[in-house]
Amino acid sequence: MIEESPSEIRLEGIPGSPGISIGKAYIVDKEGVDVVEKYYIDDQHVKKEIKRFKGAVKSAIDELRAIIDKTPDEMQRHSYVLETHLLLLKDKMLYGSTLETIEKEKVNAEWAFRKAVSHAKAMFHGMQDMYLKERADDIGHVADIIMRNLTGAQEVNLRKIDTRVILVASDLSPAETSQINLKKIKGFVTNRGGKTSHTSIIARTLSIPAVLGLATATRTIRNDDLIIVDGTSGLVIVHPTENTLVDFEERKSLYEERQKALIRDSHLVAQTLDGVQLAVMSNIELPEETQTALKYGSDGIGLYRTEFQYLQRSGFPNERELFSSYREVVEALAPRPVTIRTLDINGDKAISNDAESDEKNPALGLRAIRYCLLKQDIFRTQLRAILRASAFGKVRILLPMISSYEEIVAVKKLIRQLSQELDKLHQPYDPNIEIGIMIEVPSAVMMADAMADEVDFFSIGTNDLVQYALAIDRNNKEVAHLYQPLHPAILRMLKHVKEVGKKKGIRVSICGEMAGDPIHIPILLGLGFDALSMNPKSIPAVKHMIRSMRADDARRFMKDVLLEKTTKDILQALFHQFGDTLNPPGP
Ligand code: PEP
Ligand code: MG
Repeated sequence: MIEESPSEIRLEGIPGSPGISIGKAYIVDKEGVDVVEKYYIDDQHVKKEIKRFKGAVKSAIDELRAIIDKTPDEMQRHSYVLETHLLLLKDKMLYGSTLETIEKEKVNAEWAFRKAVSHAKAMFHGMQDMYLKERADDIGHVADIIMRNLTGAQEVNLRKIDTRVILVASDLSPAETSQINLKKIKGFVTNRGGKTSHTSIIARTLSIPAVLGLATATRTIRNDDLIIVDGTSGLVIVHPTENTLVDFEERKSLYEERQKALIRDSHLVAQTLDGVQLAVMSNIELPEETQTALKYGSDGIGLYRTEFQYLQRSGFPNERELFSSYREVVEALAPRPVTIRTLDINGDKAISNDAESDEKNPALGLRAIRYCLLKQDIFRTQLRAILRASAFGKVRILLPMISSYEEIVAVKKLIRQLSQELDKLHQPYDPNIEIGIMIEVPSAVMMADAMADEVDFFSIGTNDLVQYALAIDRNNKEVAHLYQPLHPAILRMLKHVKEVGKKKGIRVSICGEMAGDPIHIPILLGLGFDALSMNPKSIPAVKHMIRSMRADDARRFMKDVLLEKTTKDILQALFHQFGDTLNPPGP
């Protein structure tokens, strides 16, 4: 009998991490744990049921601790998520409330726990703040571990994977991802998740192709099925035909060749064919990232987000700790410039050790410079550390979320006072340190001419500018389709700020995510920006785009684009004129 080969299936999802991978599927399906039965227990069994629940929590704690201990070095950065999960295991909302339900309602532990989980999840889901909303996922991950221990369900043993496979799962929790030997994983495919999910971030960090949000992947794909994952377009092909296989093998090697060539060339200057040069810099969050920044040919650090040293800890960092991190970055990059942004706390990154951070609308609340000007002790400590680090290289100070002229005046006064203090102590610092502001609030766009008189440079934070100008919460999935950096209103704002900078003789750069996407380059080049700062991994593709274009073409293009009335028309014009430069036709 001739066995009929299954026909090819194409599934479209969210591109989570670019690249193409071809291989055998390894299914991790743990949906079964979700089915929970309810039954009542006698008075004399209540104690036993409580003991059973406590035992399951204890095993879950031991399990997580073991995972944290065995987390490989390259993943240590992410293990704080697991530490948070440990705390959640004993949280009153889950732990206390389950014990109470078992005692009061005399129901089985699984049911009582499921009730506590649903309640906690609903509470977090209902929160305005996106950061807190997403904590519902953490509760889900923690709940899975306890539930597995309660029901005795088999753990999916991810450590067992010993051949190179493409992992197909409903969702992957940070605990699960930490157990995987990532060298064995060629690709990720998940039912849930999006571009900013944990799996997607890890996949991008490790350059593993990933397609997420496929809804039915674990049902459509079977263990050992041959699949193709195209993380660039968000396509997964199950049982590819011979022709499809050949086609994607070719695309894969073309992609890999292109990546290699891009990285090789990323140490060349970012200069257009007609000689216009731009500084291409990196956005970093931790001193360790300076190595990646240098590897990808960074011309400096355009944005050092300093808030991470303040998160996930009790108390505030002291001047010595801050100084030592800043000095490490400055020395690693010298003589290239390092732009240190002062604390941009709250908003989407709430400070956990501050009781006052419980705000209804944090994006419009006591965030960034507002927080710092109110909590001057914390701000002074940071400014002194930055000033001291300026003795070791080229440091620039960048102030976030400026919305009024007075804020700049107040910070400059503080910097003058601190400089005098350092003089008295004979502590060295750069007396000519440059001070710049983020342009990310519409009022700063409108006041740019006055503000330019007070500062040395502008850096446009498009992530927030889009949020505040278009009234779109940057973390809200419901309105994500309206979050458009190419909205005509945003382009007009960028043009205005750049023109003010030119008139006033100060540099204007872009440090929002917008700068890291090669398709935006004709616009940013056409508007005449001096520098772009981005995730270091975006540098090779962005530099390549700049080096393949003429600035005069971009300027002409911009004149027409500014007449367009919709984002769609602007995108269409971009792809029509520059699509080939972006994706040159293959050999
Ligand atoms: C921005 O708002 O564009 C920006 C770069 O800052 P962050 O993303 O840290 O708010
Ligand atoms: Mg910002």
